[in-house]
Amino acid sequence: MGLGAGKHLVLIEEFERFGCARVHDIGTVMLGPLLMEYGTQAQRDHYLPRILRGEDIWAQGYSEPGAGSDLAALRTTAELDGDHWVISGQKTWVTLGADANMAFVLARTDKAAKKQAGISFLLVPMDATGVTVRPIENLEGHAEFCEIFFDAVRIPKANIVGEVNQGWTMAKALLGHERVFIGAPRLSANALSRLETLARGNGAWEDPAFRDRFAGLAMDLADLGDLFETYVQRLRTGASIGADVGILKIFQSELYQRISEELMQVAGSHAGIKLEEGGDSRFDAAGTYLAARPTTIFGGSTEVMRNVLARASLNLPK
Ligand SMILES: Cc1cc2nc3c(=O)[nH]c(=O)nc-3n(C[C@H](O)[C@H](O)[C@H](O)COP(=O)(O)OP(=O)(O)OC[C@H]3O[C@@H](n4cnc5c(N)ncnc54)[C@H](O)[C@@H]3O)c2cc1C
Repeated sequence: MGLGAGKHLVLIEEFERFGCARVHDIGTVMLGPLLMEYGTQAQRDHYLPRILRGEDIWAQGYSEPGAGSDLAALRTTAELDGDHWVISGQKTWVTLGADANMAFVLARTDKAAKKQAGISFLLVPMDATGVTVRPIENLEGHAEFCEIFFDAVRIPKANIVGEVNQGWTMAKALLGHERVFIGAPRLSANALSRLETLARGNGAWEDPAFRDRFAGLAMDLADLGDLFETYVQRLRTGASIGADVGILKIFQSELYQRISEELMQVAGSHAGIKLEEGGDSRFDAAGTYLAARPTTIFGGSTEVMRNVLARASLNLPK
């Protein structure tokens, strides 16, 4: 649609208002903005139209079994061999990885350099020889993410974004975009509207104590909307997102969890019922509860985000 950043976020919010919780968006919300900032002209010309047309479905290959919060500990390697990078290693928790035809991957390209300094940001076709995908089920039993194994996978030398060994700069820029995206109020808004529907349906709405808690959650949601707008404004004007974006991610994920807990309370004895395929998802209390659990982990865990805020925003000592 050629929308700017602000309107694009509005579009995503509208999707989620109608319960369309996730489209294949990693290309549009993460890689696209990064290529616009750091990609070569050839990369922009090739990948951006394909992202917009939905021809390339992207996955994010950052985390490894021994490198989550401590991402710079990653051990997947890429070595130059003539005109190709040869990638070996393993990624895990890759969202939508089984559906993707492309992945951006952080790999170590200089083993001797300091941890952050020897990493590069590479673009890998998922059908390359040596790529193996193994799905992982989430709490709800859906194969939402996967492990990816790279066994001497060869990709063209040009499939690097930014300079060799500058991948950490790319990784951080992309995480800023990711945190604005996952800090959006839409998941909490969707859960709160489910809570209202459920409470009106089963009589809880008439209970003043519940209404008091509901009003508190609704006001927190309004605050979150204001905070979100601050970061959308930075995106709109091209200003840097800033390390303080972590507060948005913490606020959204914790509010979403609190609403989902209230939803379980109000659903009462129905809370444990697993919704059948095609059931009315507005009443799927357990589904919302389970979906809210990992939001304080992915995109940077709450504990780690608080550490970043303590140092970068509050200047507290290590
Ligand atoms: C649903 C979901 C989707 C994901 N999708 C992707 C994806 O598409 N691509 C991808 O690359 N990764 C993805 N991830 C992985 C995610 O980025 C990691 O799970 C996350 O970074 C945490 O790393 P970890 O799981 O290794 O936990 P760990 O880093 O081992 O952390 C374990 C616990 O220790 C705490 N902790 C760790 N270090 C510190 C510290 N210094 N101070 C205080 N507490 C600390 C953490 O907060 C956490 O509670 C996804 C994860 C989930 C749950």
